[in-house]
Amino acid sequence: MNISPIKQTITSVLLYQTEPEFIIAKSYSAIVANYWQWKLQDFNVQCSANTHKGNRCRNIVTTGHMVGLSKWIELSDRYCEIHESGVTNTYASLSKKQK
Ligand SMILES: [Zn+2]
Repeated sequence: MNISPIKQTITSVLLYQTEPEFIIAKSYSAIVANYWQWKLQDFNVQCSANTHKGNRCRNIVTTGHMVGLSKWIELSDRYCEIHESGVTNTYASLSKKQK
C-alpha cells in the first residue's frame, strides 16, 4: 500500500506532537534509544572505555563535543584521547590530580 507524501507529512506532524523524539530519530535514520542517549550525554559522545574502578569513562571522544545525532552515532563506539592510545595508567594518575 502506497501512502501519499502529503498523508505521510500529516501523519508525521501529528506524531511529532505526541512523540517528537520518534520523528527526530527517524529523520536521522536512528532509533529512539539513540536519541535519548544523545540527549542524556548533553549531545556529546562519551568515551566507551571503563576506568580502573570499573566505571564508564566520562571524557568526551575527540571531535565529539556538541554533535548532531548522526555524528553521535558515528562516534559512539570511540574512545577519548587517553583511552584511544591505551594509556590507562596515565588516566588514573590524571584523575587523582584533578581531585
Ligand atoms: Zn576515556
